[in-house]
Amino acid sequence: MWSGVDACLKCTLCITQCPVVSVNPDFPGPKALGPEWYRQKQRGGVATLPHVDDCTFCQLCEAACPVEVPIAHLIALHKAAATPPLRIRVRDGILARPHRAARWTRWAGTSRVMRKVGGISGKTSLPRPRRARWSPSSLGQPLGPCQGRVGLFVDCYSAGYDGEVVEQASQLLTLWGFNVTLMPQGSHCCGAAAYAAGKPQLAEREARETWSAMERFQDVDFLVTLNATCDATLRDEWPDYFGIEPPMPVVPFDEMALRAPQEFWNRLGRVSSSAEVRIMTHTTCRGQVARGDGHLGELAHRAGFHRVEPSDAPCCGAAGAYAFKIEHEDTAQQLVARLVEQSSHVRPQGIFTDSGTCALHIEQATQVKTRHPAYWLYRQYLEYQKGEAP
Ligand code: SF4
Ligand code: SF4
Repeated sequence: MWSGVDACLKCTLCITQCPVVSVNPDFPGPKALGPEWYRQKQRGGVATLPHVDDCTFCQLCEAACPVEVPIAHLIALHKAAATPPLRIRVRDGILARPHRAARWTRWAGTSRVMRKVGGISGKTSLPRPRRARWSPSSLGQPLGPCQGRVGLFVDCYSAGYDGEVVEQASQLLTLWGFNVTLMPQGSHCCGAAAYAAGKPQLAEREARETWSAMERFQDVDFLVTLNATCDATLRDEWPDYFGIEPPMPVVPFDEMALRAPQEFWNRLGRVSSSAEVRIMTHTTCRGQVARGDGHLGELAHRAGFHRVEPSDAPCCGAAGAYAFKIEHEDTAQQLVARLVEQSSHVRPQGIFTDSGTCALHIEQATQVKTRHPAYWLYRQYLEYQKGEAP
């Protein structure tokens, strides 16, 4: 993937697609921070440019580049060359290891003074854990014959903060006829947070540790991901930048859902109360880059919601740990403002999104319940069961 590194045509298409450029006039933009910085560095020129850390690593610039310059990855190298103050380096070292940071969930209640000292934003609250609350059999027997064995990739956010969504996704996959194994077991990270923070070497180390924790489960037919950023990292960064090739297809949860037995959708179709419920969908920026938009909308329609509106914000500003950092809090708020404005017109009763941190940030900004599609499908199925109860 580094082959296009010196191919920049100066066309500026990347700049037009960068969400941070659109809200932050101080941000030099992808062309200056990526390929131009790299060329100058090769000639022994400039060390680092100011505001390089304002890049969210959304990769929308890379998706726009006609000659496949790995712009965001160059910016990650650029960030790695910067030397922020010690307290910021300590904070970034913690946030780049979210699976370990999750052990210190008491931070969520940290005082304003301590947050300021630690460089933590006061505008996007740190997450509080949501534990699983369901019994394993609450959805009943599988709806059809066994469809194979899947590994459900338990990302660091879900493992640390959202046990509910792991349980909901696992139960739905079981209902659809899959044998589910949670992978990896224990607390790990795919490396996305470290790469976004400009720590590519740490990202590779985290990825290798995670992969070695999963290798013994290689007999699964699919590896199912819950978080679009992890999904894109496993499918793109792992093979292209770390040389790790999972032998089984990596499939996002919403694609697995679209393969659910027809009987599942027929049953959800009987939940008549959802037809008038207004829903918005927001596909995470990394999800848009990897697979385009529209999957969540299709899922919401199939689940019986007929009034569905896709988000028109390219990035909500959560971007992993980005919104939690004090120096990015205003940019993160400006990025989510488009969603806030849209939701004030649409007035949705719920928002589908495919990342835990995006859900947290969007819900805090819009005050609308924002959850993973597994939550909404699970909830809909419980509604169906309630309607069928004698
Ligand atoms: S990765 Fe995203 S935020 Fe960073 S320069 Fe590219 S488009 Fe802008
Ligand atoms: S889109 Fe690609 S070729 Fe065009 S300016 Fe950006 S990096 Fe250069």
